[in-house]
Amino acid sequence: MRPKFIAGNWKMYTSLGSAKDLAAAVAAGVAAAPGVTVAVCPPFPWLNPVHGALAGSPVLLGGQNCHYENEGAFTGEVAPVMLKEAGCDLVILGHSERRHGMGETNDVLNKKVKAALVAGLKVIFCIGELLAEREGNATEAILDKQLTAGLAGLTAAQMANVVLAYEPVWAIGTGKVATPDQAQAAHAFIRGKIKSQFDAATADAIVIQYGGSVKADNAATLLHLPDVDGALVGGASLKADSFLAIVKAGVR
Ligand code: PEP
Repeated sequence: MRPKFIAGNWKMYTSLGSAKDLAAAVAAGVAAAPGVTVAVCPPFPWLNPVHGALAGSPVLLGGQNCHYENEGAFTGEVAPVMLKEAGCDLVILGHSERRHGMGETNDVLNKKVKAALVAGLKVIFCIGELLAEREGNATEAILDKQLTAGLAGLTAAQMANVVLAYEPVWAIGTGKVATPDQAQAAHAFIRGKIKSQFDAATADAIVIQYGGSVKADNAATLLHLPDVDGALVGGASLKADSFLAIVKAGVR
C-alpha cells in the first residue's frame, strides 16, 4: 500500500518567527496522523531555522526550487548540494509558478531533477495543465509531454526517490478544486504513463499527490481516491490548524 504524503509549500510567505512557530506546531501535531508522511517547504532563508524547529520530529524539510549546477556564477540561485547541507530531504521542482512565472522548460527541469537526485534529495515533480489546455482536451497530451521530457533518462531505481504532484494550474490558489472524477482520471492517466515510461512496479509504487486548493473540508474526499496518494498544499499549509486537518484526513 502506498503511504499518504502531505507536503506544505509555503511559497514566499511567513516571517522568520511565524515560520519557526508553524514548523514547531506541525512537528507537534503529526503524532495524531500515524502512517502519513509530512513535509514542509519554507522559503530558502528559513530552511536552517525551520530545520532546527523540526529537530527530533519525523517531518521532512524541502526546498521550493534549485539549480541544476552545484556551484558557479549563478546569482540568486541555490544548488542542490546546498539544500542537502541545509538539512533538506527533498525539493519541489516544476511548480507551475516556476514553469509559467519563471519560464522553466521541461528540458531545464529534467536537468534539475537529475541534479537533485544525485545530490541525495527526493524530488516532488509537479505537472499540470493550464485551463485553456483542459478546455481544449489537451490535458493528457500535456501531462504526457511533461513526464516524457521531465523524467527522461531516469532509471526505475531513481524513480523510487521521485514523487509526482498533479497540479492543474487553474486550481492553484484559485479556490477551484478539481472534482474527484477529474483528479482520479488524471492520476490514473499519470500512473499508466509511468508504467509505459518505466515499468509496472514503478507505476504501482510511485506516490502521486494532488495539488490545487486542497483545504480541510475537501481533503478527505480527494485523499482517498484510488490513485491519489497525498497532497501538495499551498495556502492551507500556512496555518497549523488547517494543514494538520489535511494531514489527519490522510489517515486510513
Ligand atoms: C501549490 O502551491 O502547490 C498549491 C497547490 O497551492 P494552493 O493549495 O494554494 O492551491
